Amino acid sequence: MGRDYRPIRTTMKIHEYQAKEIFAKYGVPIPSGRVAHDAAEVRKIAEEIGKPVVVKAQVHAGGRGKAGGIKVAKTPDEAEAAANAILGMDIKGLTVEQVLVEEAIDIQEEYYIGITTDRAARRNIVMVSKEGGIEIEEVAAATPEKIARLHLDPALGLLDFQIRQLAYEAGLPKAATKGIGPFLKALYNVYSDYDCSLAEINPLVLTGEGKLIAADAKINIDDNALFRHPDLAQYQEAQEDDEIEAEAHRRGLTYVRLDGDIGIIGNGAGLVMTTLDVVQREGGQPANFLDIGGGAKAEVVRQAIDTVLLDPNVKGIFFNIFGGITRVDEVAKGIVAALEEVKTDVPMVARLVGTNEEEGRKILSESALIPAATLAEAAEKAVAAARGR
Ligand code: GDP
Ligand code: MN
Repeated sequence: MGRDYRPIRTTMKIHEYQAKEIFAKYGVPIPSGRVAHDAAEVRKIAEEIGKPVVVKAQVHAGGRGKAGGIKVAKTPDEAEAAANAILGMDIKGLTVEQVLVEEAIDIQEEYYIGITTDRAARRNIVMVSKEGGIEIEEVAAATPEKIARLHLDPALGLLDFQIRQLAYEAGLPKAATKGIGPFLKALYNVYSDYDCSLAEINPLVLTGEGKLIAADAKINIDDNALFRHPDLAQYQEAQEDDEIEAEAHRRGLTYVRLDGDIGIIGNGAGLVMTTLDVVQREGGQPANFLDIGGGAKAEVVRQAIDTVLLDPNVKGIFFNIFGGITRVDEVAKGIVAALEEVKTDVPMVARLVGTNEEEGRKILSESALIPAATLAEAAEKAVAAARGR
């Protein structure tokens, strides 16, 4: 199994144009341009720029290029046509409502630079690659040797000799090696100043003139640190909510959608976080974080199951309930009631311990639920059940 440097935690994503605004404040060269919401505005911006432009979908998803969400336009007419094609487009389940219109870059080479948290190493890690323009996960999977990596000491930050070392190891040409320092420093400063879990410029473009420019920018911010960044509130408001998250919040549930296929329901944030970790350790990928809280009644449990199943990726559900204030038999009743109503064949594994656990287990013994005695056993069974589908 490859190492995954992307942490699972709640992150706030911002759009490319917003990330570029931040990078620009740190002195990073970016193409000139602005965001637009309709084709007429796109045409106007293209006319103002007076050169070929690139029209780029602004959605919280990578791989927009591949999905047809990025088009180069030589004339304002073409820009308008590109906007008509891209606006309203669906990219990975997200509707494009705005586009960034920028002066097109004369691309000679595309590189990757990024910083993220390597939880296993308990360090931030900088990555530089000559293979930019495609998603770094693809490079990491196919040709990991083409990514130069370096763990950072939090007390020292990113030092000049480390920058030279990274550029050398990545095999960058002379022009890029000379110019990359300020980009990596800005990347590091943005990453630390904004409490990012990821900061990435991909591609960092070497132009025909031999200059470096950030053609794309991505920043994910740790939600827990948002109170320290009031300037980001404007971005958060503009953020499109995941539909399932929005529905969960209307139902009063503490739910965060993740990328995997194993639905997680537990009581208490710490317990749910631990459950995510244990599922990952067993080789599974959690589909969500859902904390039903203390003292959850049967109805809340029913709502929780229903919400988790709104995600079509879910292939298995893992209940991890510790009965303290929450009574295990209440939760069990909720599960049984939910299964009568929801009618799903998604396998469910339950680890229920604590107050009234005997009673709870008895209630569940008549259901289709797969019981598990320990956390590890439950995780193993949940991963196996999801794989079996
Ligand atoms: P992503 O696919 O969502 O990561 O979007 P990017 O902004 O990284 O763009 C994807 C690809 O589109 C880049 O790797 C480039 O090959 C291409 N692209 C982006 N901007 C320009 C541009 O200004 N000019 C040209 N010729 N290609 C561009
Ligand atoms: Mn990109």
